[in-house]
Amino acid sequence: MTWASGSVANHSAAPYELSCHLCQNPVMATIVVLHAHPDDEAIATSGTMAKAKADGHRVVLVVATRGELGQSPDDLAEGESLADRRTTETLKSAAIIGADRVAFLGYRDSGMEDDPRINDLDTFHSADLESASQRMADILREEGADILIGYDERGNYLHPDHIKVHLVGARAAEIAGTPKVFEATMNRDFLWKLMQQRTQGLPPEMQAEVMGNATSVDDFNLGMREWTITHRVDVAAYVPIKKAAMIAHASQINDQSFFLQMPEEMFAESFGQEWFIHRGVSRGTDEPFADSLL
Ligand SMILES: [Zn+2]
Repeated sequence: MTWASGSVANHSAAPYELSCHLCQNPVMATIVVLHAHPDDEAIATSGTMAKAKADGHRVVLVVATRGELGQSPDDLAEGESLADRRTTETLKSAAIIGADRVAFLGYRDSGMEDDPRINDLDTFHSADLESASQRMADILREEGADILIGYDERGNYLHPDHIKVHLVGARAAEIAGTPKVFEATMNRDFLWKLMQQRTQGLPPEMQAEVMGNATSVDDFNLGMREWTITHRVDVAAYVPIKKAAMIAHASQINDQSFFLQMPEEMFAESFGQEWFIHRGVSRGTDEPFADSLL
């Protein structure tokens, strides 16, 4: 009997044999997650990142900008910039999530489309796509990344820096030959239903605050339609980590914010799952969501 056939035979006869260690503990993978601004990682993918870390994988956080155009808190120390503060907050959040490394791509926050500073030469929006992708690809190669997580093509809500994450992520993975690309998104159909339930009975102006000008799921400006989404990762067990990571970004998400004011149950319902599109892969109409990126 050869060693190989012996191990196969033992595998079915005695599941607790050493040969089964690998089937229960898949080989460690490296997951690199690209975000646009500090705090995006906490809101959008911290559950999946914390879960991957707990499962023994290497998790690397890359942030394109330091969120220079965010809200400036009143308590900046002398000589401390908003970028300094947000860098510190990102490192705190990453430590809570368990990220193994944090890197910044070094671009400046672009702001929204109508912000006159968007076309400044140092913004992420103005950056040449090929050179920004090259910067990102260098990190992917250095890490030997198995998976890159970027954003969907709408950047979730049409923020120029988020759309750039989509473009740079896709191109960088191509340059570096990263095998799997996932696009973090939100399930628009799920959120539309949830928000309609939650805002029922509220005055129209308050409904408009949450739902925007949308009159149907088609023009609701969040995430992607459910049929385009391939993965739903259950991160219910990581909701407390997710919340702590958000709290680490105190300059932007204070305890009066919409997210942190949510009742516990609604917070868990809204943040207990994370949605992804596996780039280049589609899901059959009757096929359930896959639940693991690995
Ligand atoms: Zn952002």
